Amino acid sequence: MGRVRGTSRVMVGAPTVEGAGVRVRRAFGAQQAPLLDPFLLLDELGSDDPADYMAGFPWHPHRGIETITYLLGGRVEHGDSMGNSGVIGPGDVQWMTAGSGIIHQEMPRAGDTPRMHGFQLWANLPAAHKMMAPRYRGVTSREIPEVATVAGARVKVISGELQGVRGPVRDVVIDPTCLDVTLPAGASFTAPVTRGHTAFAYVFEGAARCNGSRIDAGHLALLGDGDEIDIAAPDAAARFLLVAGKPLGEPVAWWGPIVMNSEAELRTARDEYQRGTFVKHGR
Ligand code: FE
Repeated sequence: MGRVRGTSRVMVGAPTVEGAGVRVRRAFGAQQAPLLDPFLLLDELGSDDPADYMAGFPWHPHRGIETITYLLGGRVEHGDSMGNSGVIGPGDVQWMTAGSGIIHQEMPRAGDTPRMHGFQLWANLPAAHKMMAPRYRGVTSREIPEVATVAGARVKVISGELQGVRGPVRDVVIDPTCLDVTLPAGASFTAPVTRGHTAFAYVFEGAARCNGSRIDAGHLALLGDGDEIDIAAPDAAARFLLVAGKPLGEPVAWWGPIVMNSEAELRTARDEYQRGTFVKHGR
């Protein structure tokens, strides 16, 4: 029998202004990241008011990380220094390897309604991969498989595997598991998670329960170690992201959108950005 993971701590997401004035809820960021290795940051953008998001995230650099964007409502227009551009819509996932350096913009736009809802997760890159060539990939909603479990959960498998179904996001270097789990009232979700891997649940609708701890919408439960997870919605429906991955255990040096291993590497990145030599792999 495996050990079921309990909740090691519940964190409340903090309202934060990002980009050119976008109101997001930061589930965790630089302060909490040491507890969440190999993950660095999770933001939720959820608003019915375009004034909260129209300013967007104009041209900015990234280096040393990968970002995974998952949209549930609205659209995001994007463009980057490699010449990629496009629009992602509800249910779509886009993931970017900043690697040696990318300059991009991400601009939320209303769809048929003013509702905008999405997430961005930052996955750290191991030291050996920080300066790899940048990449941009995306999948549409249709390409993300949904698994129904016997305990009543409906799970979109974005990355990793559940009941033999593998998600389409396959080449993020830290190889995370990323699931969008919907629990109708009375349902529960159990799944194996490798012992020693960091795992968390971020609830964004309703309230869930994990080993006696209640996790409300906008709260993140960092799970203790063990071999499996068991999260339930005993009273009312809940929806959450379940994310897991193997810790890197490497030093983290962080400056805004650039995350490296040392202060010297951050200085180099800042110097290069000021001199216009930041992008190593252009179009
Ligand atoms: Fe960005």
